[in-house]
Amino acid sequence: MNGDAHAVLIRSGRVIDPANGVDTTADVLLRDGVVAEVGPGLSAPAGARTIDAMGLVVTPGFVDLHAHLREPGFEHKETIRSGTEAAVAGGFTSVCCMPNTEPALDTAAAIEFVRRTARAAGLARVYPIGAITRGRKGRELSEMAELAAAGAVAFSDDGDCVHDTGVMRHALEYSLIVRRPIVQHAEDKSLSAGGQINEGPVAARLGLEGWPRQAEEIVVARDVELAALTGAHLHVAHVSAAGSLEYIRKAKQRGLRVTAEVTPHHLTLTDRLVEGHWWSATASLPPYDTSTKVNPPLRAEEDVAALLEALKDGTINCVATDHAPHAETDKHCEYALAAFGISNIETALGSVLSLMHAGKLDLAQVVATMTSRPAAVFNLPGGTLSTGAPADVAAFDPDREWCVNPQQLRSKGKNTPLAGHFLRGQVLFTVVGGEVVFELE
Ligand SMILES: [Zn+2]
Repeated sequence: MNGDAHAVLIRSGRVIDPANGVDTTADVLLRDGVVAEVGPGLSAPAGARTIDAMGLVVTPGFVDLHAHLREPGFEHKETIRSGTEAAVAGGFTSVCCMPNTEPALDTAAAIEFVRRTARAAGLARVYPIGAITRGRKGRELSEMAELAAAGAVAFSDDGDCVHDTGVMRHALEYSLIVRRPIVQHAEDKSLSAGGQINEGPVAARLGLEGWPRQAEEIVVARDVELAALTGAHLHVAHVSAAGSLEYIRKAKQRGLRVTAEVTPHHLTLTDRLVEGHWWSATASLPPYDTSTKVNPPLRAEEDVAALLEALKDGTINCVATDHAPHAETDKHCEYALAAFGISNIETALGSVLSLMHAGKLDLAQVVATMTSRPAAVFNLPGGTLSTGAPADVAAFDPDREWCVNPQQLRSKGKNTPLAGHFLRGQVLFTVVGGEVVFELE
């Protein structure tokens, strides 16, 4: 085949490429796996596939810094294939996957397994995150240099917090040598143990054990000081509490290398949802629905407002899904026994766009928080449509309404509190490396 057979011309979309300050109607030509040109009236090379994107928003493929693909070990919840099918259906072309698998991603062989399996699936690009400590037990550091050489883009014990301050210090020091960020799941277990939902009036009304914001804030405060001590790059996963933002904001003012992410659910949902909610005349969420159980828990209105402000002013760098698929049996039980997590990589765009439809974010901000901004945090390729960048593209209709039907999700995880809820904004097609890997039927 000649090079032109590997060309795709995406015509007449509204191209938003925040890294280059582009927001204009244009064509995007992809060739030989990279972005060849963005501009008006491009002609299609012979043999190229042409896709009409009139009325659609065309952006760099979305970049997710935080997803659980569950393989190896929990293939009944998700596999690398089902997770990346879900990712590309949600517009994500790059997915960083967390190491809380079985075995944990704490060896070069495990990192290589994930990369090989993802390549064989041929959908989204998968960037494994290596474990900070052996077996994610929080004691001895993993062989971080070997993991980095095998392709780990960052290190985390996500699912668990690195509690030991000395271990966290050493991890940050070592991260300077391997030049990868340390991603902390900030949760002081001595405060959160037994906690089911945010500590506050809702927990009191429902009789569920509370999980105070301070469980997160105290760890963030400590870790910011360790970032100051070591000069290393600390990335705070899934910030949920307003108080954490003050520490992160001050850390940035001090010039520390501290970055942070927020999930779509913490930006849009509150603990009130655990009391039950009527989405519409036909759909409802009963109280104590285990699909609302997530770590960290959904917080209160004031936290949600503070998270949005922080995302807008740059205190929070980007959106990351924390896609956490579970099997039905993990959630089909009483609230206190249910697993934590929401399957959301396919609803992430619609959730974040709900903020645009409410007038709280503009479209360029939505796109930046899911493309250029996350890519910059981990220094990943992609997230832009610059000439020569990977030919990774998402195209979506920001107004198209759809009803979330868990059974239609590509993810094996049907655990979403948005079941029956209408979202506005749907991905129509996704391109990875110049190949169309998803098209909405
Ligand atoms: Zn986590």
